[in-house]
Amino acid sequence: MNKKITIAIDGFSSTGKSTVAKELAKELKYIYVDSGAMYRAVTLFAMQHNFIGADFFDLESLSKTLNSIDLSFKLNTATGNADMYLNTINVEKEIRTLEVSNLVSIVAANPIVRKKLVAIQKEIGKNKGVVMDGRDIGTVVFKDAELKIFMNASAETRAKRRYKELIEKGEEVSYEDIYKNVVDRDLMDTTRKDSPLVKADDAIEIDNSNLTKEEQFNLILSLVQEKL
Ligand code: C5P
Repeated sequence: MNKKITIAIDGFSSTGKSTVAKELAKELKYIYVDSGAMYRAVTLFAMQHNFIGADFFDLESLSKTLNSIDLSFKLNTATGNADMYLNTINVEKEIRTLEVSNLVSIVAANPIVRKKLVAIQKEIGKNKGVVMDGRDIGTVVFKDAELKIFMNASAETRAKRRYKELIEKGEEVSYEDIYKNVVDRDLMDTTRKDSPLVKADDAIEIDNSNLTKEEQFNLILSLVQEKL
């Protein structure tokens, strides 16, 4: 059981990728990396510097300052999870807002941004023993991952989950806005030119619309055990 593998979990937004990836990493004592948090942090940086807003995107200025962005994950001892830090500031809460969700796919479509983040992700996972979730983990970041999972669920199921999550965090959002965000991001993420969201040929697809969190976890854990 000492063999360490790489586990790539890709899929549409709000499919519960990060929940299952975190649980798996804890169970296996692997590193967990939420690659979406990195794209969200760059988006937050662009918003803070007025490089992006509802109707504008100054890609040139973002590209020029990209080198000044430092991204890191640090363990939050209260939650047991790794929080996202942007230039030494904990931005875990700010990156989850609907404002960031509405702009992140525009920023993430950019090849310069992707190149920087993919390089960091490859470095973190170079020694294996990693569970990374995102959109291009099995197709670009870790093409050789021993286990690739592609997660899906209906747009309604995903929007309901995300709505519940944000309401519980105290955000004032409407279900309609969340649903629109889910559908818009699906479209942008699957149709962009650089590293679009597609299922890798060797990925195992799981539709979790009708699975409980526990059923899903056990299913994926059994797939991991086969690989070990
Ligand atoms: O996973 P999450 O929903 O937080 O990701 C936010 C956004 O970041 C996605 O909608 C997508 O546009 C982008 N993303 C990406 N590639 C990844 C992870 C996330 O393009 N590997």
